[in-house]
Amino acid sequence: MLELRPTCEQCNKALPPESLEARICSYECTFCAACVDSVLGNVCPNCGGGFAPRPIRPSKNWKGENFLGKNPASTKVNHRPVDPAAHTRFGSAIRKIPPEKR
Ligand SMILES: [Zn+2]
Ligand SMILES: [Zn+2]
Repeated sequence: MLELRPTCEQCNKALPPESLEARICSYECTFCAACVDSVLGNVCPNCGGGFAPRPIRPSKNWKGENFLGKNPASTKVNHRPVDPAAHTRFGSAIRKIPPEKR
């Protein structure tokens, strides 16, 4: 199940389950949209993949107990910001490749 992490790894901004600003990579590395667009340039610093908007998990039990009440968001903060210069070196070649071809 997707781990709904509570904050942006880069700037530690709160990203509650209903946030429309949360972005994730395929390994669930979680950042805010502003950091993905600026410092990260849509390159995940942990895996080199791209990002997509994180889906909203329903807060209401619409069907089959598949909702936040049964499967709450994680509270484990992963604040491990990248050094922007180091990330530029890491991401400069990768960034030229479209995410679907990385
Ligand atoms: Zn951020
Ligand atoms: Zn990643």
